[in-house]
Amino acid sequence: MSASAAPQVPSSRIATVAAPASFDHLSYPHPDHPAPGTVREVAPGVHWVRMPLPFALDHINLWLLEESDGWTIVDCGYAADATREHWERLFRETMGGRPVKRIVVTHYHPDHLGLAAWIVARFGVPLYMSQAEYLTAHAVHAGVAGHHPAQILELFRRHGLQGERFDALVSRGNAYQRGVPEVPTGYFRIMDGDVMEINGRAWRVIMGYGHAPEHAALYCEDLRVLISGDMVLPKISTNVSVWAIEPDGNPLKLFLDSLARYGALPSDTLVLPSHGRVFHGLHPRVRELDVHHEQRLGELTAACGEPRMAEELIEVLFRRDLDAHQTFFAIGETVAHLNFLMYREVLERIEGEDGRYRFVRKRSALAEDYPDVL
Ligand SMILES: [Zn+2]
Repeated sequence: MSASAAPQVPSSRIATVAAPASFDHLSYPHPDHPAPGTVREVAPGVHWVRMPLPFALDHINLWLLEESDGWTIVDCGYAADATREHWERLFRETMGGRPVKRIVVTHYHPDHLGLAAWIVARFGVPLYMSQAEYLTAHAVHAGVAGHHPAQILELFRRHGLQGERFDALVSRGNAYQRGVPEVPTGYFRIMDGDVMEINGRAWRVIMGYGHAPEHAALYCEDLRVLISGDMVLPKISTNVSVWAIEPDGNPLKLFLDSLARYGALPSDTLVLPSHGRVFHGLHPRVRELDVHHEQRLGELTAACGEPRMAEELIEVLFRRDLDAHQTFFAIGETVAHLNFLMYREVLERIEGEDGRYRFVRKRSALAEDYPDVL
């Protein structure tokens, strides 16, 4: 990618962001978020776009990286008419007739990849993505390689999901196709450590694991900016789920190991997350997430004095009413925590005569691993 001159940004759009004196807590340089279809500059040439989502998560943040001769779009939004209309306005007004040069998609989830094919077709530009994310998008869209909704339901059935909660998921069908009606048929592969030069600045790809197979975050040392995608979020904890493609996987370990990589970036890094507001305080947030997961693991361990199924343990992790969409992620996340404890040799997994999995605390684990909780 070519280097280019300083961005031509109208001065009225340049925000001066004061960094906090210390970075031992989270702070938000912007008291609110930009309205859908508008932008806010959060670092020189880096613009924050917020798009609506048709489910409880409510919104996603996307990023526009400005160059003198065009734009790089990072993540594309869920395929919905409202999002397309906001993009039309951005193309027309904010992006000032300068072309889109490339799209980078952090991972295959529909709120990130949804409109990529639409933008690729419109501007004839390349899509930059990791290989695992690109291929997973195709597999989930086609419902193959363990990604068929029936296979996911069978996994959740083995973990105890039944009755109304199960039926609500049956009627979901292949929800991915609604958010991603079309997956681009070609891409440019990015790998961990790759450096993309955008507007004369180096953006380094830092892969993260556990939330999606090969999630790309982008870090610009020059600007001290991390586009963290879904890997580091300020308010909610990232979904980490076991899926049917890898029922015995340990994605929570992958996720926690990845968090440590982001936590190694400078403490004054400005974090641009996919959900919530732009924030300072990467180090305290990583610590907070570590502690949060350890607490939840301790509580699950305490709840497994008798053999329990994941379905019975959802409420240990999620202390609120869940709709079908949230249940889908909640049971996958509960299994991820249980598998983590199984590999830590705190819990044992038993397969019952009914074909269902139950988890029970190992005697040797008593008081040793989670003395505060047990
Ligand atoms: Zn995601």
